[in-house]
Amino acid sequence: MRQAFIGFDVGGTNIAAGIVSPHGRILKFISHPAEAKKGKKQIAQNTLLVLDSLLKSNISCLGLCLAWPSPANMPLTLEEIKGIINKKYRYPIYFENDANLFTLAEALIGQGKKYKTVVGLTLGTGIGCGVVDNKKIFNGRGLASEFGHVSLNFNGPVCVCGQRGCFEEYAGSRTLRRLAKKYKLSSQTGRELYDLAKGGNKKALKVWQDFGKNLGLGLNGVIKAYDPDIIVLGGQISRAYQFFKGAMYQELRYRPFFKLPIIKVSKLKNAAIVAAAFMDK
Ligand SMILES: [Zn+2]
Repeated sequence: MRQAFIGFDVGGTNIAAGIVSPHGRILKFISHPAEAKKGKKQIAQNTLLVLDSLLKSNISCLGLCLAWPSPANMPLTLEEIKGIINKKYRYPIYFENDANLFTLAEALIGQGKKYKTVVGLTLGTGIGCGVVDNKKIFNGRGLASEFGHVSLNFNGPVCVCGQRGCFEEYAGSRTLRRLAKKYKLSSQTGRELYDLAKGGNKKALKVWQDFGKNLGLGLNGVIKAYDPDIIVLGGQISRAYQFFKGAMYQELRYRPFFKLPIIKVSKLKNAAIVAAAFMDK
């Protein structure tokens, strides 16, 4: 029987999970709706369903690793899901914030593998942020580097966390919807705006420029907090990097006194799941 880990990457809409070899190769992959909007019970049920299904494979499971969103973005907490899984299974369970796991995988086998201080930023519905220093996740008392919920504007829009003007209100998918409205575009999702920009649509290109400026403003804070060697961008929105990087760099160059780190887009597929292989080290 092959020894392997099981990694989960759970978000509000989707559960992605896989069987991962000890070297970080995904051997089997499953995707299933999370249905977080239906409440705690439903998300717990869906997580167990996926776990049961993966455990039917012919493996000797060395441990589970759950990439879980922060409490601001997920009704069921890490502690709660841990209790639910422990009632049924006795495998070692590792837990981490999804952005921390993304950053760990990047620091070990991805864009950050040659560097000491790696910051990972996942751009999606929200903004996840992780910091890995000397190949170890820095998590303070557990919730460190939640840059998505650091306010850039105390008069800004109200965030899902209740605070005004959070970074993720300026460089997440809600921002794209807001900017699309501003430029009177009917398409509002990241994918649609990406396709429009690719076709040369001037309004869509403006949306991405505004987005890049906002991102640069937020990254400026990240750089001053951690002075990283490299920042790795991930999440679906990072695919539009070519359209927002110009404005992002321009904004960062306005703000001297710190040396700019390298900024790259992740090339790893399912980095947060792959990280399951490295959690027991
Ligand atoms: Zn917030």
